[in-house]
Amino acid sequence: MSQVTIVNVGYRSTNFWVISAGTSRLLVDLGWPGSMGMMRASLKRKDVPLEELRYGLATHYHIDHAGAAQELKLAGVPLLVLDVQVQAIPLMKRWTKPQDNYMDITMDGNVVISCSESRALLESTGIPGEIVHTPGHSDDSVSLLLGDGSVFTGDLTHPAFVGLEDPEIVLASWRSLQERGATRIYPGHGPTWPLGTSFLEMFI
Ligand SMILES: [Zn+2]
Repeated sequence: MSQVTIVNVGYRSTNFWVISAGTSRLLVDLGWPGSMGMMRASLKRKDVPLEELRYGLATHYHIDHAGAAQELKLAGVPLLVLDVQVQAIPLMKRWTKPQDNYMDITMDGNVVISCSESRALLESTGIPGEIVHTPGHSDDSVSLLLGDGSVFTGDLTHPAFVGLEDPEIVLASWRSLQERGATRIYPGHGPTWPLGTSFLEMFI
């Protein structure tokens, strides 16, 4: 099995992560609305051929994380959707203005799975891991946890910065990630950081 590598193809203050096992790749978080040109340029700059992206996965359906999902689908990147995310997809357009050039995400061609099916699907891409439901920032938030402890958490709120979120739900999501072996956080915004074993104790 090839070694798994991670590169950031993000722009406009959101991280978009490409996880690769050789030429089998996943894109985690899917660009801003109307930004397919920027996405293509960013992939090119990081030597990621678009046609090698096996799936695109949005950590949650907010415009800075899933805005270009339909544009990516039309460019040949299948959209991987968790069953807990289906309801959130049609709500995306509420947060867009006409000048954003948001392309509405259709259900056509989407691969919809449950979190319990994610391990097998990832296995088929050669990228060991699982997708975990991690509500807190939004009900449809999921995290991609790799076998090496790297975890892509989108906007899962840091426990120190809980505002309007339910702190219990946020903490339960972090606890679930930690119990499953998460050690390094790849967030939707900002730099990566290590998840220490005593991390949650500070917030209980
Ligand atoms: Zn965000």
